[in-house]
Amino acid sequence: MSAGYRGYIASRPVRGEMTPQHVQNLVVRDYATRNGLPFLLSATEYAMPGCFMMLDSAVASLDDIDGIIFFSLFMMPPDEAGRRRIYRRTLELGRSLHFALENLAFDSERDIDRLEDMFQVDRFARSTLRAVNFDSEVVCPICGGLPASETSVDFSGVTSDVKPWPHVSNLLVCGGCGLLHKRKTAEWFQDVDVIYRDYEAYHQGQGAEQSVRQEEASELSPRSALLVRFAKDELALPSSGRLLDVGCGNGALLRSFAGEFPGWELIGVDRSESGADAVGAIPGVERFVVGGPADAPGRYDLISLVHVLEHVPEPLAFLSEVAAKLTPEGAVLIDAPSFATNPFDLAVVDHVMHFSLATLRELTRRSGYALRAYSSSLIRKEHAALLTLADGLVSTDSRASRTPDGATDAVSLLQGLATWLPQRFADQEIGILGTGIAATWVCEQLSNGAAYFVDEDPHRFGKSYMATPVIAPTDVPDDLTVFVAQPPAIARRIAERLATEFPGPSWVPCPSLDELEL
Ligand SMILES: [Zn+2]
Repeated sequence: MSAGYRGYIASRPVRGEMTPQHVQNLVVRDYATRNGLPFLLSATEYAMPGCFMMLDSAVASLDDIDGIIFFSLFMMPPDEAGRRRIYRRTLELGRSLHFALENLAFDSERDIDRLEDMFQVDRFARSTLRAVNFDSEVVCPICGGLPASETSVDFSGVTSDVKPWPHVSNLLVCGGCGLLHKRKTAEWFQDVDVIYRDYEAYHQGQGAEQSVRQEEASELSPRSALLVRFAKDELALPSSGRLLDVGCGNGALLRSFAGEFPGWELIGVDRSESGADAVGAIPGVERFVVGGPADAPGRYDLISLVHVLEHVPEPLAFLSEVAAKLTPEGAVLIDAPSFATNPFDLAVVDHVMHFSLATLRELTRRSGYALRAYSSSLIRKEHAALLTLADGLVSTDSRASRTPDGATDAVSLLQGLATWLPQRFADQEIGILGTGIAATWVCEQLSNGAAYFVDEDPHRFGKSYMATPVIAPTDVPDDLTVFVAQPPAIARRIAERLATEFPGPSWVPCPSLDELEL
């Protein structure tokens, strides 16, 4: 007469993963039903690792039952001798063992090798995968791939709030999706902790938001005004709604948005509370929250991530946190640097990811969003994008492009400039055009520093930056050489324009990789 099968579940992790007991029971019962096995109650193993008291008692009772249904094969004892004792007793009594999760049954001598093979493979996979894939310093934060190349960086860097910094983490190119990203060493985490603790947005402009040009000929306009216009044009935004600005800083975007959409309720979150007063004073701002997206109350029709994503070490988790704060029809506004048009971005210490359109698209897809609008020309040197939640399941097959997107060239250009700059200007004090990341970085590479910073932004005239005066192009002495610290293609056009407008000084554009290699 058939007595039935005893279930065997555990109140401890199996292969490092904790499955709730009721779920284990469901899996075991389902297996029994599907296979027509009469089911007895489950025995639950104790939580202590290495304890098999309940299993021993189930094996001892094999005389009285038909067999045991394990939640998983990997709940068998970790030692082979212990497992073989169980196989032998089961076969001697003509009983069977079942493994619900793996959908496997054991009732004959030849099954022993099959099961033992699985333990071998599992042990091998764990030992090799731990050594390689679990190296979280180098694993791609988008696709989990390993780097195809690693470049050690021997030049100094700049923080994203534009302060000189002594070192930059190594640059990796993912072999899976092509993402250019930094090695996340313990030192990198320490560096960013210090950088964010004393963060000062736009300190070199005394708090005034940076103005940007779309084209060489176009007017300077504040970045946030361009982004608000982009969102307005691409999304049919209603006259009322809720906006969450993540990483709001001093509220530059919130201020622009409030001007354009006075009927919206605005909330700013930032890791630092230094912008609280400025943000609180913006009309329409309901509150300022210290923390991340998850700390903001309620859901939002628009969530902006302006110069945020490139700082995030775990972008998939971060973007799912953002998704949880979005209304079903909501959109995410992204603005992030483009290394292909601005190689100086690689010198920014706290930027951990450097996007191309292909890798931004891959991140979008893998985090469950769809790319609804994209522009590389809205803001020169930056990616502007609008994402919405993807309909249904995101396919898991990788469409990642392995085609080179200029990552290696960008790395080489910066390496080359770090050597070229101090040699080219060894006997000369020069001016540097700009007061941003590139200008700061160039100044650091020069052994003599700079005599002047030259800036076209009127907010910056007459100030001093890195203990060096900031002057307007009209005030540059005639005999001075001014290095145009901008990506080569842009630098060439700026130098041409300035040479026409101000023919006295000599305007030297940043050389391209080809020019450096000559
Ligand atoms: Zn990748």
